[in-house]
Amino acid sequence: MKEIIFDSKRCLKCGLCSKLDPENFEFSGETKLIGGKSDDGIVFKKNINGEDKSAKLAAGSCPGGAIEIVE
Ligand code: SF4
Repeated sequence: MKEIIFDSKRCLKCGLCSKLDPENFEFSGETKLIGGKSDDGIVFKKNINGEDKSAKLAAGSCPGGAIEIVE
């Protein structure tokens, strides 16, 4: 099982992730991990299945280091 972890504290609100991985990220002034769940309203997590190329690209390109993919 793979998981996307998005730390909103580190997000610079550049919107790049929503362009690289629009299935998982949405940006309209604020960044949202689509379908992500959070316990604290800061760190959001989402399980992903199958293809994760775009998510990895977003994680590797995020200038704030706000996105992590864990397996
Ligand atoms: S690429 Fe990173 S810094 Fe930019 S909006 Fe997405 S999570 Fe935030």
